[in-house]
Amino acid sequence: MTRVFITGTAGFIGYHLADLLLAEGHEVHGFDGFTDYYDLTLKRRRHERLLQRPGYVATEAMLEDEAALSAATDDFAPEIIVHLAAQAGVRYSLENPRAYVDSNLLGTFNVIEAARRHRVAHLLMASTSSVYGANTEMPFAETQKADTPLTIYAATKKATEAMGHAYAHLHDIPTTMFRFFTVYGPWGRPDMAPIKFALKIARGEPIDVYNHGEMWRDFTYVTDLVRGIRLLMDAEPVRPADGIVPEGDSLSPVAPFRVVNIGNSESVKLTDFIDALETELGRPAIRNLMDMQQGDVPATWADATLLHRLTGYRPETGFREGVARFVAWFRDYYRP
Ligand code: NAD
Repeated sequence: MTRVFITGTAGFIGYHLADLLLAEGHEVHGFDGFTDYYDLTLKRRRHERLLQRPGYVATEAMLEDEAALSAATDDFAPEIIVHLAAQAGVRYSLENPRAYVDSNLLGTFNVIEAARRHRVAHLLMASTSSVYGANTEMPFAETQKADTPLTIYAATKKATEAMGHAYAHLHDIPTTMFRFFTVYGPWGRPDMAPIKFALKIARGEPIDVYNHGEMWRDFTYVTDLVRGIRLLMDAEPVRPADGIVPEGDSLSPVAPFRVVNIGNSESVKLTDFIDALETELGRPAIRNLMDMQQGDVPATWADATLLHRLTGYRPETGFREGVARFVAWFRDYYRP
């Protein structure tokens, strides 16, 4: 039994990770500021479900509130911190970049300071496939250069990777950064395509399909994703004694730090994903073909070789099965 402090537990991924860890009998302290970026009812519902579980306690506060974060971590004395809270979303970062700087830079700094004070055995933090930015070499591997962020969202996430590396080096904190690829599934985010599309298809309203449908995403089913996180929790990086990093590993030569993709390793055309939604919902999608949006990339595709090598992980849920399970939840939750 481990004491795991998770930020962002009222959020999509944090909720699923807390659920998995509680089922395994760990003690979990959730921390979330309930930002109003999307429907708060959904966040409250996730939060209330977790509060019913033995072994779960939670603090409602913002990461930028250092006193609140310190009080929560001091009280709990975490052995592992998984930092998932962030201002997420590529498109919203074009409208409100400051929210990303506040939550993702200052907020993350406060989290890694807490990790330092508590000398945690492992700090794990969410980055994103968006850091691959303008890269066109597919699939995206962690060892590729990723220094062309196209949005402030991607730029802040890239900066959190850099901050994580510096603290891992200076304070010897074993640190893993995840790069997630388009996560979907039950209790998902209403700002993302699967719920937005499903609601519109169910109501017979048109959906906006960017880049005229010439878009590919490595859609990752949420229970696969949190299983990947769980496996990585037990695979903390060590500082290589001789500074030599095995080929294909993103381990830092100077710090106990590595970056790991978690994805399904299959790039699915957006129009195929929409076809699967139509099939499951039993209604046709009215497609409004649009130009590419600023800050967007045409394709993402995860090379998950490193994750597999470190943990034995393989994704279990193909996108058709994932969409079927997502739609079953969607019908129950939204009753469209
Ligand atoms: P989410 O928005 O559902 O969850 C984030 C949670 O963090 C929310 O409940 C929000 O209230 C909380 N939060 C945000 N800013 C905060 C702050 N300053 N202080 C306290 N709480 C704050 O997002 P998610 O999809 O669960 O994403 C989790 C992490 O994974 C994020 O770091 C995100 O950037 C990253 N990520 C997600 C995806 C995806 O497809 N969902 C892809 C790549 C990366």
